[in-house]
Amino acid sequence: MSVFEHIEGDGYEQVVFCSDDQTGLRAIIAIHSTALGPALGGTRFYAYRSEEDALVDVLRLAKGMTYKAAAAGLDLGGGKAVIIGDPKRIKSEALLRAYGRFVETLGGRYITAEDVGTALEDMDIVRRETRWVTGCSKTYGGSGDPSPVTAYGVMQGMKACCLEAFGDPALEGRSVAIQGVGKVGHALCGYLTEAGAKVTIGDVDVDNLGRAVRDFGVETVPIEDVHKLDVDIFAPCALGAAINDDTINELNCRIVAGSANNQLLRDELADKLGAMGILYAPDFVINAGGLINVEDELRGYDRERAMAKVNGIYRALQMIFQMARQKNISTAVAAEHYAQDRIRKISRIRLVRVAEYGAPDHH
Ligand code: NAD
Repeated sequence: MSVFEHIEGDGYEQVVFCSDDQTGLRAIIAIHSTALGPALGGTRFYAYRSEEDALVDVLRLAKGMTYKAAAAGLDLGGGKAVIIGDPKRIKSEALLRAYGRFVETLGGRYITAEDVGTALEDMDIVRRETRWVTGCSKTYGGSGDPSPVTAYGVMQGMKACCLEAFGDPALEGRSVAIQGVGKVGHALCGYLTEAGAKVTIGDVDVDNLGRAVRDFGVETVPIEDVHKLDVDIFAPCALGAAINDDTINELNCRIVAGSANNQLLRDELADKLGAMGILYAPDFVINAGGLINVEDELRGYDRERAMAKVNGIYRALQMIFQMARQKNISTAVAAEHYAQDRIRKISRIRLVRVAEYGAPDHH
């Protein structure tokens, strides 16, 4: 495997391979960009089939974080880490602490958080070896579960979508189909029913379905039908690739706006959605609430302030939709341009170094 082959040409700054024989730790930390600030991104703990798969994944995810943070208006760059192995088998206090030591060596260029295969409790352990960690539990000054904040951001994003599609941001009376009512989908049900929207849900997990019906009185449909419903908004809040070559032809909505990452199986499907007259809220913009939430931990967490920053998702989507219209490009491509534009403009300003004079030296 040639490592440089994977990194060259895409602007990656640094890739760190970490190994600790005693604990079995094998991790890769990828820093894509620190142009806007420290590279923040979670640690994925996963049994990759090969080292190359792990490298490809961490690089792809790190770059995605650069765009997500930039579009969210944060002073953060993009990075991500992977720990190779089955977390159920090899996760231990010693391994997580060894990992924390490596994060610490980067001196704050990379800040970690939880991701697939890691949880709040793990970040509390990592924290014992490094300051550069977010997503810790509330007892340690952390922000706790980010899902309700993510859901709030999705709701704000839906309003921007309604303004663009219907000329009115109000969610009252709008019909929404939510695919997946886990942590984010459930909280989203709450926000939407409170706003007076008519919500229908589908999920493979009957317990989660029952919980949403009990809490909010929403309607359910079989999982294979939820994306086909004749609704104003279809909200993918389960796994990736909700929009693929088959499902796209079955959509019956005016807007696609949800929390799931990588909603489109292929980039080109964004153009097809546009041609079908369906407005797509780019996933990395509308689901940035979780990132905005953990970012706030860096200055002493305050949920009210985090929520206020999440309101910015509305404005960001408005700008992206306007750009897509003016340049006649898909909203997905417009979102990338929007993020790149901010990185270019703000990183240039950050090149102006502010001199730091120490106290006068009187011998
Ligand atoms: P979760 O695991 O709590 O919920 C996912 C739900 O989807 C579960 O109820 C599950 O049963 C259901 N599901 C799985 N397969 C399904 C299928 N084929 N059809 C319908 N439902 C299905 O996860 P979550 O934290 O709520 O996250 C949901 C999505 O949002 C994920 O893609 C995640 O990456 C993304 N996201 C989450 C956050 C966050 O703050 N939690 C932030 C950004 C993005």
